[in-house]
Amino acid sequence: MDAIGFEKHDHRSCIADCVRAAEDVCHAKGLKLTPQRRRVLEILLAEHRALGAYEILDVLRAEGQTAQPPVAYRALDFLVAHGFAHKVERLNAFIACAHPGEDHAPAFLICRMCKAVAEAPSEPSRANLSTTAKAARFQVETTVVEAVGLCPKCLDAPA
Ligand SMILES: [Zn+2]
Ligand SMILES: [Zn+2]
Ligand SMILES: [Zn+2]
Repeated sequence: MDAIGFEKHDHRSCIADCVRAAEDVCHAKGLKLTPQRRRVLEILLAEHRALGAYEILDVLRAEGQTAQPPVAYRALDFLVAHGFAHKVERLNAFIACAHPGEDHAPAFLICRMCKAVAEAPSEPSRANLSTTAKAARFQVETTVVEAVGLCPKCLDAPA
């Protein structure tokens, strides 16, 4: 698992592959990837950047759909509930999952300049946390790992 959002890659096949992966998972689990849900997933995949619900609505409206906020929220709820997208709490925004269908606790690398977000494997910090939690007899249910900094592109940009 790489932080794909910050790496050079074939973005066209990246969108198609992720949509296909979501279709496969839906098919296997008997879920319905409605046109609305698929479109919201595609919008999230189009840029490796977290998008707020209202930004997604703007895209839908620009495409001529008379989408109301609940439409975007319902599609996002579905995508998040089934692991096709994640919520980035710090930005109150959403990002498409980099490896749908895999059971994982996501960790995010968030660029404070351009708001690019990459999903990274979170295992090391999760392991540390669970050791601490166990010592405190605390049962962890969810963890959110969000690192803020500068992406390679912004690091290299002339000041
Ligand atoms: Zn891509
Ligand atoms: Zn993920
Ligand atoms: Zn950046």
